[in-house]
Amino acid sequence: MFGLQADWSQEIYDRYFTMGDYAGGEARWCPGCGDHAVLTAVQRIMRDEQLKPENSVAVSGIGCSSRLPHYMGTYGFHGLHGRALPLACGVKSRRPELDVWVATGDGDCFSIGTAHWIHALRYNMDMTVLVFDNAIYGLTKAQTSPTSPLGFKTNTHPTGAILPAHNPLTITLGITNASFVAQVMDWNPPLLYETIRRAHRHRGTGFVRIVQRCPVYAGAYSKALQQNTEQFLILEHENGIAVDDSARRAFPNRKNHDPSDLAQAFALAHDESHIPIGLLYSNPDAPCYEDLSSQGVELTPQERLDGFNAILDRITI
Ligand code: SF4
Repeated sequence: MFGLQADWSQEIYDRYFTMGDYAGGEARWCPGCGDHAVLTAVQRIMRDEQLKPENSVAVSGIGCSSRLPHYMGTYGFHGLHGRALPLACGVKSRRPELDVWVATGDGDCFSIGTAHWIHALRYNMDMTVLVFDNAIYGLTKAQTSPTSPLGFKTNTHPTGAILPAHNPLTITLGITNASFVAQVMDWNPPLLYETIRRAHRHRGTGFVRIVQRCPVYAGAYSKALQQNTEQFLILEHENGIAVDDSARRAFPNRKNHDPSDLAQAFALAHDESHIPIGLLYSNPDAPCYEDLSSQGVELTPQERLDGFNAILDRITI
């Protein structure tokens, strides 16, 4: 038998996915854009969790960040402005077994998509929502966005934004049934990775607002954010996001925060003296819409018709 044992049999290995399996087209964001870091973090998480590319869908609206599905080796849906979340909910409602990743921006989610943001968070469908918040409309070249800070100069407000910025965290925390609310910056890879990974592992809508650099249209603002490490407040807790020693060295301000404490999460989100980083709130027991609404998805059209007629028969007079 040429040295082979008589009971030798071929061993079939499971497929092992590498980073290349999650790569789509070459990313064409500007050099230094924070979006590159988010893309890499998502692809690393998918590789580390060995998620099947053919079972994953990246969904987006419109904006710089919404180009993400083009750069993924998964299925993707590049939708309309503000419509990333209803598209993602539609995918999840009919194909609950798919892993859904949503890429949206501050303009896409917090402006034209506001109503969808609120209702999708309430539906709490099992998906990961990443809001790339660079405080400006980058794709259309520098208009004021809902999160542009007061006095921020843009093409639409050349003398500075005249209103205080929207606070996405306080709004998200106030949405009934919101079950996972976190915030992170794009330029600390370990924190970014851990935060997105936790959001993905969460059963329900894992909402992550990512403070993102746009060096082209918000250069000074992005630089100031990155350089002033004291303005960030790192939230630590055994049930929160894991913080490694490099992040502890980089950010001197830290606070113990239990993510089940919604009142303290609100207080942290409201406090404008610091930018909280970490898991503000988590409720693993919040109901998911797809669990309540998917009954009957597997029925044939005739079975559905019979069921419908049975209901009508009960109320026939
Ligand atoms: Fe990134 Fe800004 Fe360039 Fe858009 S305009 S790709 S957000 S750096």
